[in-house]
Amino acid sequence: MRVGARIATDDSELKDLAYLYVTCDDCGHQGWWSRARLNQAEGKGFRSLQSLGSKFKCRRCVDRGGSGRNVSIRPVLREDAEQVGGGR
Ligand SMILES: [Zn+2]
Repeated sequence: MRVGARIATDDSELKDLAYLYVTCDDCGHQGWWSRARLNQAEGKGFRSLQSLGSKFKCRRCVDRGGSGRNVSIRPVLREDAEQVGGGR
């Protein structure tokens, strides 16, 4: 998986994130991870979106007997989160 090139290649990709959207490609269920949860993940040693991405599962699909692994994650950087509205 590749994520935008704007994320600094510092020690941790996660520290530049404001939050993280998680969308299930199977059922369309959407969720998000707050900064606090990202902090917890960092505390557990996650340093990249790629490693963290393997952690996400769609609970709704798991409940239905699916793998729940067909999820997309979309990171929102701190600088983007500050620009409210935006739109195109
Ligand atoms: Zn799902």
